[in-house]
Amino acid sequence: MGNLRIDLFSDVLTKPSAGMRRAMAEAEVGDEQKQEDPSTTLLQEMVAELLGKEAAVFLPSGAMCNQIAIRAHCRQGEELITDRSAHIRNFEVGGAAAMSGVQIFPLDGERGIFTSAQVRAAIRPRNNLAPRTRMVSVENTCNMGGGAVFPISEIAAIAAVAREHKLAMHMDGARLMNAVVKSGVAASEYARHFDSLWMDFSKGLGCPIGAVLAGSREFIEQCWPLKHQFGGAMRQSGIIAAAGVYALRNNVDRLAEDHGNADALARGLAGIPGLKVEPVETNMVFFTLPEGKLDAAMFLSKLAETGVRMSPGGPRRIRAVTHLDVTAAMIPEAIAAVERVLRTTQEH
Ligand SMILES: *Cc1c(COP(=O)(O)O)cnc(C)c1O
Repeated sequence: MGNLRIDLFSDVLTKPSAGMRRAMAEAEVGDEQKQEDPSTTLLQEMVAELLGKEAAVFLPSGAMCNQIAIRAHCRQGEELITDRSAHIRNFEVGGAAAMSGVQIFPLDGERGIFTSAQVRAAIRPRNNLAPRTRMVSVENTCNMGGGAVFPISEIAAIAAVAREHKLAMHMDGARLMNAVVKSGVAASEYARHFDSLWMDFSKGLGCPIGAVLAGSREFIEQCWPLKHQFGGAMRQSGIIAAAGVYALRNNVDRLAEDHGNADALARGLAGIPGLKVEPVETNMVFFTLPEGKLDAAMFLSKLAETGVRMSPGGPRRIRAVTHLDVTAAMIPEAIAAVERVLRTTQEH
């Protein structure tokens, strides 16, 4: 793939810009573990303020945010309710079970979005046999749900059920800012329904590494020893936290450009006969190939020959993600490449 021109594989591919690299190079640093790294402290404060929470803690990855939150909220043998498609369930190597002894109850949501009624129905009765339901996790935006924005009204209804049953409310906000930019709902308005939530900096916000988990002061104090135990305590982490500070100041509003590019891509692809394109809300475009010999793996390798990369989202399902390093000018080229691959493979 030496001729890779357009990379729609994922928004994790974004590379730090010149301005971000400068901010990183010039970052003031200290020992994070003694809470003496000013850049890390600043990022934690900025995220806590953005989310309207008392405190926040910087971690190396979003997966660690999820896993530490599960450990903090639950005990062994307890149950966590989330959507069947959730990252927490499918892409964290069984972490809830492996590291916290927690079982996951999967809901059949629509594009990753489930309802308060589904949550209510999933809550276990209290008896000597059933696992105890302890936590609900909402993914916003829903990654495998096509980048769908979780409606704030449904979140409020789920939170009411959670309160009634004393369940912890957690948000996997890997792409929370995409949801905020798209919906116009403030981050703090989403956040007020959650006991814990986090946002990723290494996705559309363009940083090389890092995520921040937020909650009450008491919850974050509980997370600090877990950060050490899970191996996420760092030292001069200000070098990477400074990238997060830069991203919050420069890369949030521009997520709308990614959404516009994804929308243009989806509209172009919808014009190609045989392709089924799913609705686009944020920066992800999912489409299904026509019935036939061509499966996702074959399609992707033929597409790569044209210098365009996308990723598989199922046996015939393809995912294309727009991000900071994808320009509007690349979109018509990507559409043309998909069209060409389909045309040439159908001739044979
Ligand atoms: C990427 C992602 C994660 C994990 O984040 P990392 O920073 O890659 O560990 C968790 N949840 C969702 C929805 C994601 O897209």
